[in-house]
Amino acid sequence: MNYKYVYGPVASRRLGFSLGIDIIPYKNCSFNCIYCQVGKTTHLDITRRVYVPTADVLEEITHALSKNENIDYITFSGSGEPTLHSELGVMIEGVRAMTSIPIAVLTNSSIIDRADVQNDLRNTAVIAPTLCTTHDDTFRTIHRPHRAIRLSSIIEGLVQFRKSYAGKIWLEVMLIRGINDSDQEMQALKKAIDRIQPDKVHLNTVVRPPLEAHASPVSSDTLEHSRAMIGGKAEIVVPLKKTQAHMAHQNIDRRILDIIQRRPSTIKDIATISGINHIELSKHMARLLEQSKVKIRRHQDQAFYEIDTKEEA
Ligand code: SF4
Repeated sequence: MNYKYVYGPVASRRLGFSLGIDIIPYKNCSFNCIYCQVGKTTHLDITRRVYVPTADVLEEITHALSKNENIDYITFSGSGEPTLHSELGVMIEGVRAMTSIPIAVLTNSSIIDRADVQNDLRNTAVIAPTLCTTHDDTFRTIHRPHRAIRLSSIIEGLVQFRKSYAGKIWLEVMLIRGINDSDQEMQALKKAIDRIQPDKVHLNTVVRPPLEAHASPVSSDTLEHSRAMIGGKAEIVVPLKKTQAHMAHQNIDRRILDIIQRRPSTIKDIATISGINHIELSKHMARLLEQSKVKIRRHQDQAFYEIDTKEEA
């Protein structure tokens, strides 16, 4: 079965081996973040609608679960903002009816203040909402959101949802050099975090090629300093080292392309996610380069593989 909506399992820094569910077509989003690794938002929208057929998504998940063992989470994320799908709650209930594997939703938090969105998220094990700043100008600089989105509504929505949500909230803070990494930013963010009461705060930075060149990563010293300022719940998310051969008997080239289509990846990332050993993988990558199916982009002294769009056009 060729999947349109399911990908992975991928080795996620936060969720272990995660079966990804992508329910928003490329590239619909309520934000157009400067650090986005997926690409420029072409449809900036906050309308909740049935972007892709729910029955088809559930059928793919059923099939993928029959083929993959040792999945740690089923994660709604992918090419855009998953809460924009108006049947997200129906999908979550459908997954809960087929498996006890915990469900996670990665969200940019943009419409978390809406009652229908909160209702849809209620029966998940984890939500990982983004909150990078409490300052409106910084918020607009980083996320370039749809004009109807208000940062104050996002923060109040998170505070309100925490009061009734039984799952875990892992707040993600993406730190960008010179934009939201000052002490003043961290002090204000800590106040908001104290109100939201997440279970964890994950500090992240720009480790993959960003949409905009000026979205630069902060140093490890800044990450440490920010962690100390935010306090006990904060942790720096580090690359996952675990490796598992999930795909040994599958069409390897096809799966490699599937991985890097979702996001540009280093050879180490691809090896970790795919479970293919580095020597074998190097041969596949050399052939894919030769065939112009992939290309290399350099960022922060690392080589990232991505789909060669010249070849696709
Ligand atoms: S980083 Fe996430 S929220 Fe931001 S534009 Fe990309 S997909 Fe949307």
